[in-house]
Amino acid sequence: DVSVKADAPICTLTLEDMAALCCRALRKAGAARPVAEAVARSITKAERDGSVSHGFFRLQGFIASLQSGKVSGDAAPLLSRPAASVLLCDAQTLPAPYALELAMPELIAIARDSGMAALVMRNSAHFAALWPEVEMLAEAGLVGLACTTYLPAVAPFGAREKLFGTNPLAFAWPRPGKAPMVFDMATSARALGDVQLAARAGHQLDPGVGLTAAGDPTCDPNEVLAGSLLPFGGYKGAALSLMIELVAGALLGQKGSASTAESDNRDGGPPPRGELILAFDPEALSGGQWQEEAERLFARLEGQPGLRLPGARRHQNRATTTEVRVDPALLATIRAFCES
Ligand code: NDP
Repeated sequence: DVSVKADAPICTLTLEDMAALCCRALRKAGAARPVAEAVARSITKAERDGSVSHGFFRLQGFIASLQSGKVSGDAAPLLSRPAASVLLCDAQTLPAPYALELAMPELIAIARDSGMAALVMRNSAHFAALWPEVEMLAEAGLVGLACTTYLPAVAPFGAREKLFGTNPLAFAWPRPGKAPMVFDMATSARALGDVQLAARAGHQLDPGVGLTAAGDPTCDPNEVLAGSLLPFGGYKGAALSLMIELVAGALLGQKGSASTAESDNRDGGPPPRGELILAFDPEALSGGQWQEEAERLFARLEGQPGLRLPGARRHQNRATTTEVRVDPALLATIRAFCES
């Protein structure tokens, strides 16, 4: 587990205890119960699936931003329909997991009715993985795609300074009777959370992940945190990241990562911003002929030795995980906060 120092004492929590602790800490930081429960569910699901970069260690950021007022713990999201196939959710700076739980059922209903639909999330404090939202669509029989911006963390291809966010992109494909095929990835060479965890645990990074503040290559996570990450795949990843800056920023009437930074209070928590979620009904688009051809492709892929589908690791973790390892120092900090 990259989130825990190799020589740290073993410290585990059951998923139920983790959810309860997260909920208690978020309530203490000012979140209303339903908001706290939604964020606690998001954190616990990430830990259960082994998505540790967006699990328990994100709790401190949520706490900081609830306390600073950057993130609201008790607003009511505003839902509207600016066009037939567009659902607009102004999250009013609420944590994304809560706003999404309210908006996604309506997106699913519109996509089933119209064949395709867009959820325009505005002012949502996203600090989580994106697979929950696209997986929810695939579990409803829809194809899902989601992306969001962040704060500047990634140097565009050829640059020496950060400008793009880590700009994640997630996609899910429904497989009736099976777990959906889901990929969810930062467009940076590594997720920022992984670099923060590596710095915490004293691990080095692989070459090609980031630059120092002076723009030189480095494998030291602390230097990357002070400098910038690199996009995955050189100019190709940078082009995807640029697209996400546009479609999750200006296209939604929201700021891109660099503009978001101008008003961010740097409390370490999630800046409210835009997320674009697209849902396609494969029945409507394909005329009912989609599943067989897709399954043929998956069978060809899974027939290759050593190959696995994206999402398979997470789904395997999900089936077996009942308790997770946590950083003892972080656990002590959260417990002390709850008792304070
Ligand atoms: P990874 O590089 O760990 O994985 C990216 C995708 O590739 C996953 O779907 C993963 O599936 C799949 N994958 C990994 N290895 C293989 C393999 N050998 N064969 C097939 N598929 C594979 O993710 P990142 O570190 O880039 O991103 C981590 C998270 O960070 C994401 O959930 C993302 O949403 C989140 N994020 C959130 C941000 C925010 O602002 N909210 C900002 C940036 C990132 P599997 O999971 O099964 O391994």
